[in-house]
Amino acid sequence: MDIRIGNGYDVHALAAGLPMWLGGVQIPSEIGFVAHSDGDVAIHALCDALLGCLALGDIGHLFPDTSPEWKGVDSKLLLKKVVALVHENGYKVGNVDITIALQRPKLAPFIADMRRTLAPILGVQENRVSVKATTTERLGFVGRGEGCEVWASALICQDLS
Ligand code: MG
Repeated sequence: MDIRIGNGYDVHALAAGLPMWLGGVQIPSEIGFVAHSDGDVAIHALCDALLGCLALGDIGHLFPDTSPEWKGVDSKLLLKKVVALVHENGYKVGNVDITIALQRPKLAPFIADMRRTLAPILGVQENRVSVKATTTERLGFVGRGEGCEVWASALICQDLS
């Protein structure tokens, strides 16, 4: 069976008074992401990991931030389109693993909701969707509360069904 692996990385800047979407879930917060889309940096990294599996470039290439079509777009829609590409290429998602670095707010209370939200979009059980969160111990731009950094890995398998 053919399996493929990919990784994705994304950063968004934080600013006061903007919504904070992460992993498809809105996080109650006075700070949020500066972005052309809804700024869901976790979904963006995940999309890039899936596209990386297929060597299909990145979401900036697929959904340009210069296009009015993607202004303020719900990133779950972008993920649905990327998963459709996975399926069109004869693969299904095996598992994904996401690490979010954010100084505040604490994300632990929202991790289960993110997994529950992402799993059906990916077409897998929740136990194949890992979401982890960490601070950077106040070091660097994440630690200073200037932005959020996310790494994602994805594995896709040839769909023989
Ligand atoms: Mg992004």
